[in-house]
Amino acid sequence: MNLINQAFQELYPEKTLDYNTKLIYSGQFKPYNANAQLSPTTLTIKLSKKWLKISPDIQIGLIQSLLIKFFKNRKQTFNIDLYNNFIKNIHIAIPKTRSDPALEESFKRINEKYLYGLIEQPNLKWGHSSVRKLGSYDYQSDEITISSIFKDTSAELLDYVMYHEMLHKKHKFHHTKTGRSYHHTAKFKKEEKAFENSQKIEKELTKICRKTRIKRVFFPYSFK
Ligand SMILES: [Zn+2]
Repeated sequence: MNLINQAFQELYPEKTLDYNTKLIYSGQFKPYNANAQLSPTTLTIKLSKKWLKISPDIQIGLIQSLLIKFFKNRKQTFNIDLYNNFIKNIHIAIPKTRSDPALEESFKRINEKYLYGLIEQPNLKWGHSSVRKLGSYDYQSDEITISSIFKDTSAELLDYVMYHEMLHKKHKFHHTKTGRSYHHTAKFKKEEKAFENSQKIEKELTKICRKTRIKRVFFPYSFK
């Protein structure tokens, strides 16, 4: 029995898995990424090679998180808890190899002004010139990505988006017993509002998003 079958059985003891299973450790992923694919006969789960060295109990939690998404049947298990806690702490072990002078300056300004210098610097990179995804924080690679549109805006706007993503690194996520994850909690939003001129900046960001004539702008724009 491989880890997929074991994960399934412990997650849904009353059910049987009607697929063949294939577990592949692949070198093509970012560290600690994973995905699942379903063909008519086979359920394939691919994990980044990094997972090979991680405890099978945590791997089972990861596989169960993927299975829940696949079968749209929310549940919470001890292994999923282990996995979530692992992800919340993984940034400590991730090598910091990417940076950029402008992003680093922004990171440092925010860290000093709002976060008591307590946030350890993650990987930092510019993303596409997107107005849909202004920024994101990836737990698995401990990486903040900022849309390249902020190369040409005021430092204030860049800092505001940087602050949002840094708050993701600070707060991580809240996982409930029913298996939902919350990233923008009330505490998160309250802290975000503490940014100087936050209301004015929100308006400016909305304007920037409108200017590009994208029909559907998420309000208040789509931070990851
Ligand atoms: Zn966010």
